[in-house]
Amino acid sequence: MHSPFFVIDGHCDTISKLDDIGAIECPNNNHVSISGLYAGRVGIQFFAVWMDPSFTGEYFHMGLQRIDRYQRMLDKYVAYFYPILRFNDVEDALEAGKIGALLTVEGGEVLEGNFSNLEVLYGAGVRLMTLTWNRSNQIAGAAMDTHNRYGLTPFGNQIIKGMNDMGMIVDVSHASEEAFWDVMEVSQQPVIASHSNAKAICPHPRNLNDEQIKAIALKGGVIGINFYPPFLSKRGDAGIADIIRHIEYIGGLAGIDCIAFGSDFDGIESLPQGIEGPQSFPHIIEGLLRLNYSEEDVRKICHNNFLRIMEKILK
Ligand SMILES: [Zn+2]
Repeated sequence: MHSPFFVIDGHCDTISKLDDIGAIECPNNNHVSISGLYAGRVGIQFFAVWMDPSFTGEYFHMGLQRIDRYQRMLDKYVAYFYPILRFNDVEDALEAGKIGALLTVEGGEVLEGNFSNLEVLYGAGVRLMTLTWNRSNQIAGAAMDTHNRYGLTPFGNQIIKGMNDMGMIVDVSHASEEAFWDVMEVSQQPVIASHSNAKAICPHPRNLNDEQIKAIALKGGVIGINFYPPFLSKRGDAGIADIIRHIEYIGGLAGIDCIAFGSDFDGIESLPQGIEGPQSFPHIIEGLLRLNYSEEDVRKICHNNFLRIMEKILK
């Protein structure tokens, strides 16, 4: 963990895949394992509680159940994980040589339209919310929901203000473009796209256009590069060179200060060539250094840009 290039990964869906918590321990059928996180020098992993649209019960209940699963994972592997609840926890986690774990929720339907549920989630340790997944919800329209397009709702407006006040990071990955621009106007804090790429390189509806990328950068936010091949390349397959192509493009357009990683491990069905899980981060870092990225810039992409956001927003 003492490498100058430790990584903060802004998104994975591993919690949804952990029916057996012990599966996190070693290489397994999932992308993320404790050994892989250590091998990839991941200093902080954001763990998303994903709102599965096929679930038929109450979303808030599902959210709490999955948070409980996350908590049991941290308890069982307390020797390896350190929960990040305040910014000071980052230093403590790194000093202890543990993997900082930051809890996020992917899909604002978890709130079921009830503001007080946001406070409960904060109390349960949630420090970031991705406003939507693929379906539009009570907070905002979703990029993939072509039948039901809208921006930020009045309830969503209230939620953004609440997240700003509480110290929760606002994540616009998956949000509709209308919602994106509404959030940019309402949020008093930097906004992130935790796992999205550049539309100019790969024209997928989940990716961000140039104006969106520039707006995130201007507000001091970050964009986590997503490793899903269909978001990386229109060829359908992809490799490490495609990850670097998005970094190059976004850096050229909006500067290096807005680039980070948001792998989407365990939320994606396929991986780029040369990427097996967090253990593969060093290959991307080597690729950047070969292109003569300065160590300072590589540190920004790997962790410093995310640390800036966490320092500004987390209490
Ligand atoms: Zn996602």
